[in-house]
Amino acid sequence: MKTAGMPLRVVRGEGALLHLDDGRKIIDCISSWWVTLHGHGNKQIADAIHEQAQQLEQVIFAGFTHEPAEQLAKGLLELLPRSLTRVFFSDNGSTSVEVALKMAFQYWRNVGEPQRTRFIGFEGGYHGDTMGAMSAGGSSSFWQHFRKLMFDIDVVPFPETWDGDPDVEAKEAASINALRKLLTLDGSGGLQPAANGTGGLQPAFAGIIIEPLIQGAAGMRMCRPEFLRKLRAVADEFSVLLIFDEVMTGFGRTGDWFASTKADVSPDIICLSKGITGGFLPLSVTVCAERIYDAFLSDKLEHALFHSHSYTANPIACAAANASMKLLIETQSRFRDMEATHRRLTQKHLSDSPLLTHFRFCGTIAAFDLAEGQANYYSELPAKLRSKFIEQNLLLRPLGNTIYLLPPYCIDADTLDSVYATIRRTVDEGVSSTKIGTGGRQSALS
Ligand SMILES: *Cc1c(COP(=O)(O)O)cnc(C)c1O
Repeated sequence: MKTAGMPLRVVRGEGALLHLDDGRKIIDCISSWWVTLHGHGNKQIADAIHEQAQQLEQVIFAGFTHEPAEQLAKGLLELLPRSLTRVFFSDNGSTSVEVALKMAFQYWRNVGEPQRTRFIGFEGGYHGDTMGAMSAGGSSSFWQHFRKLMFDIDVVPFPETWDGDPDVEAKEAASINALRKLLTLDGSGGLQPAANGTGGLQPAFAGIIIEPLIQGAAGMRMCRPEFLRKLRAVADEFSVLLIFDEVMTGFGRTGDWFASTKADVSPDIICLSKGITGGFLPLSVTVCAERIYDAFLSDKLEHALFHSHSYTANPIACAAANASMKLLIETQSRFRDMEATHRRLTQKHLSDSPLLTHFRFCGTIAAFDLAEGQANYYSELPAKLRSKFIEQNLLLRPLGNTIYLLPPYCIDADTLDSVYATIRRTVDEGVSSTKIGTGGRQSALS
């Protein structure tokens, strides 16, 4: 609070625009932290919320169910990879990850392999701010104060890539090799003494968790769909569960319904939140494969998954999600076509800039970095750029030295064109007027 500027006061939202109380209009180029899909103030979703609120605002979801939740579960299963069959509701991205971790962990206990207690994550991974989610994203420096409260995970490199990257195959191989090394039975890390006391060794890993195709908070770091297929093969070979945290990548962000459908890879567990209600209300789901559900299906209470929240499957949030899904189905071309627009406008405004590098695209998301030595997270440039953008009525929040666009799907090409033109001008002016330290690439959440 001491060093932050005064927050801007928003009185109304409309499409891609945020109206401030001083009359200014800001273009929301990051979908208000990645949640808004159809734009602000969407009437169909607002109407659905209004209607549901008068019908049934909330009900305990233990021993009770309701139409909006059932409809949402059915709708989701139609769009998700076929192998995902069971839906568990919670109420934000972090909790959907907590549920996934608990599910994977207890799954192995229920099937008689309780020594499988460890998880593997990726360098730069971000999975939320609650304890388990922080642990799963353990490589971030943001949680140094909480280390002693977090559980330990193993981390492998994320094969981050961009347009024209000649090293992508090598990076993927390095990542897969690191994984195999951890998981291989004769490597020391992958084994625990057998639970049956025979003195033998058994596999130690319960699951692998990844943000598929794009690590968001780490700076919109992208990997290829091919990598996810290789990852699936390794998980199968060593029988570890594969968890896709699609909290950010779900619902059209990647240009397809989900990163998993885009890459044609089925995880064992998937986490969805952020865009699920179109950005209107908090809600999340953790969806799993039938064999995981089966491992909990028992006469013994101790086999059950003990996890619930007061607002689990809130009917108003579910109604918003159903309205949003309907809209998404009707307007699919918007999220499917946006990558071509990003590419065209990058070509037109940015690609000849010597200050920018590592252009990368995935569906509705475009990202690029300030060239090496121009800035790093702790230098003043990113913060300066952020306020320069706001001065020009753009909501953009550079992550470290990465500038990215992640707009609501309703944004039109002319507006995007003006956004790109402003970015170019601002970067040129910002870099030339800032004395900055050197420093390499930094990944950071801010
Ligand atoms: C935002 C995010 C989360 C956490 O979601 P919250 O709703 O903010 O708790 C988890 N995983 C990923 C990939 C995210 O982008």
